Amino acid sequence: MARRRIIAGNWKMNMTPSQAVELVNTLKDLVVNPDVDVVYCVPAIDIVPVAEAIKGTNVQLGAENFYIEDKGAFTGEISAPMLKECGVKYIIIGHSERRDIFGENDILINQKVKKAFASGLTPILCCGESLALRKAGTYTEWIKRQITWDLTGVTADQVKELVIAYEPIWAIGTGETATADQAEEVCKMIRETIAELYDAATAEAVRIQYGGSMNAGNAAELLAKDNIDGGLIGGAALKPDFGQIVNA
Ligand code: PEP
Repeated sequence: MARRRIIAGNWKMNMTPSQAVELVNTLKDLVVNPDVDVVYCVPAIDIVPVAEAIKGTNVQLGAENFYIEDKGAFTGEISAPMLKECGVKYIIIGHSERRDIFGENDILINQKVKKAFASGLTPILCCGESLALRKAGTYTEWIKRQITWDLTGVTADQVKELVIAYEPIWAIGTGETATADQAEEVCKMIRETIAELYDAATAEAVRIQYGGSMNAGNAAELLAKDNIDGGLIGGAALKPDFGQIVNA
């Protein structure tokens, strides 16, 4: 079964609302590809203007974060119903920056995955190892454990819709990309883990992205690998290069 490629930009804490609209307009003609799901995951304050700016294009909207409750006394947070009403379809969960800087653990990440599905949002679930774990050679076990925890109680039908992003922390924003073989090794292992936790059909359906300094120069080689179905892109998503990645 051919899986549909998904190229998602993670804009992080970049782009004021007016800059965001300008970027959408700059990229508009560059990101057209009928065979690829193109997603912009944008800061909360940019969601409404970007939703307006992408109307009539092939681009889908994603958010970078949310909280597991629908409403209430959660100062500073944003809920799934709020995102849904603004046209958000995808939600990044478990990014290493949320794990490391904001202390999100696998219990919360698991709750977020389940809440996203219950709310009609598609999670882009991030996993990946630090440089220390890579050097120690224990990265496979680590990522397996992340996936197992984060998907506790998630059904096979939900996992078939899920997007998993393998993002080695040592490659995020560093300019150092995993080689295509290193990325493929882990993405294949993630698919095998899904087969063990669920079944072969679920493993075949789940889409797995690579993320970590993917750019116009290295995208084609990474995306050519059997188990890499797309990319989660930070820095290069803010430049015309993103169009080259979508069309790699
Ligand atoms: C990311 O933060 O998801 C990411 C992959 O960033 P970059 O492409 O800048 O390494």
